[in-house]
Amino acid sequence: MMHGFRREAPEILAELEALRAADAPTHGGRVLSYVYDSGLAELDELAADAARLVQPVNGLDPTTFTSVAAMEAGVVGFARRVLGGAEDDEIAGSVTSGGTESCLLAVKSARDLWRSVRAGTPRVPRVVAPVTVHAAFHKAAEYFGLELDLVPVDPATGAVSATAIEERLGDDVALVVVSGPSYPFAALDPVADVAAITARRGIARHVDACIGGFALAFWPEELPAWNLSVPGVTSLSADLHKYGYAPKGVSVLLTRGRDRQRFQYFATTAWPGYPVVNPTLMGSKPAGPLAAGWAIIEALGDDGFTGLTAQAARATGALREVVAGIEGLTVVGEPTGPLFAVATDESVPAGRRVDPHHWADAARAAGWHLQLQPALTQADGTRLPHTTHLTVTPVTETVVGELSQALVAAADAVRGEPAVDGAALVAALADSVPGGLDALAGASAGLDSESAAGLLRAFGLLGGAAPDDETTGSAGALPDTLAPVLALVEELPPQLTERLLIELLARVVEPVRDRG
Ligand SMILES: *Cc1c(COP(=O)(O)O)cnc(C)c1O
Repeated sequence: MMHGFRREAPEILAELEALRAADAPTHGGRVLSYVYDSGLAELDELAADAARLVQPVNGLDPTTFTSVAAMEAGVVGFARRVLGGAEDDEIAGSVTSGGTESCLLAVKSARDLWRSVRAGTPRVPRVVAPVTVHAAFHKAAEYFGLELDLVPVDPATGAVSATAIEERLGDDVALVVVSGPSYPFAALDPVADVAAITARRGIARHVDACIGGFALAFWPEELPAWNLSVPGVTSLSADLHKYGYAPKGVSVLLTRGRDRQRFQYFATTAWPGYPVVNPTLMGSKPAGPLAAGWAIIEALGDDGFTGLTAQAARATGALREVVAGIEGLTVVGEPTGPLFAVATDESVPAGRRVDPHHWADAARAAGWHLQLQPALTQADGTRLPHTTHLTVTPVTETVVGELSQALVAAADAVRGEPAVDGAALVAALADSVPGGLDALAGASAGLDSESAAGLLRAFGLLGGAAPDDETTGSAGALPDTLAPVLALVEELPPQLTERLLIELLARVVEPVRDRG
């Protein structure tokens, strides 16, 4: 018994267990995004034990806590070897808190290197990337003051051409990013072709292999060169909390050349406290995710990774075949790795088509969580279709029969049903919005919190009828069908949608008013 505490530990943990029971299931293969289940309970136990051993450690200072230095060296060494950098001890690396942090740091380093050779330039550097590049690079450009120049991809396949990227290059480009593969469509960008072009011009070049890196490294089929084995690739990110099967909070950023990598650091002695030297964004940081990732690498070894990757690859192949066999749906492009996107097959008559968002909602009603992705108009006016995304993990293989049946049944249930008409939806909603369509059109990033909440309530996405209502504050769980929500995302001005989503997420975590 814990002496002198307000509540007993078993009671607190029981409450947490009850909360956890309401979560989407993290194990068992029913959620095909966000979670990466090896299916090996003993691996999860090992990760938890390892994290617990370093729980009190501060990862901020690997000279005081030398276990951190040893584990980080182990993880970076493994990553460098399997991601094409085996021969090159000039490749330096850092363990970060996740893919976003790895991507942010890749941009920061490239920006600072670019600036260092253009002392005093007032110019804003550019990042050039296909439109399919992960949103983390939008965030990086915003945080670090670069312009993100997005190159349109082929709307049919989601693939970018190296010449389209080459046309955008200039002296103001600090970094070119391609994906291995991209998240939305699993397109493996032409890494070698782009690297040849950027290397010729001396431009830094990042491969975002956050999702695919540790799966492609052990992929059972031959792949075009995509990693650090390509000479012009100057940095690469790969997440251990994806296909490294580690709990959340661990990714690796590898950089070619110690000198280049040093631009990643922040150091200062200009304050009266301890000298600060940070390779990553955080100061004090947990060592638990690093320890978990390290322990999993030690346990699995190359053979373990190869076996798990083969399971995910077989399940991916099986599911792609199932989808290809469903009338009205089609797999987008030529996906590489254990993920793919599904769109409507426009080649069949309208009455036989399946809308991927209705399909995902039908699958969700049967307990399978697929991820809806909105359509997007590119800079050249072409439109990327709205799709449904599936991320396949080793455990998926154990449920692939059941899942295949569910995917077929879900398609049968919604075949012929047209996609939600976003424009009609907005027009109808505008009637219930004070001020009507004009207010909707005028509203944007300048919206205050109450007005944004009012719009969300009118859209049925936020609980509580009025600002003073006792129930205000609980945004509640997701609605039963997401297709209408995605239709709004596609139809409303992006700035307004972004402001509304900020309001929704902010209110989800607000404390509920105490009614005692
Ligand atoms: C997941 C992902 C990221 C961002 O990683 P987080 O771990 O979610 O921060 C970046 N790029 C790609 C391609 C990803 O799939």
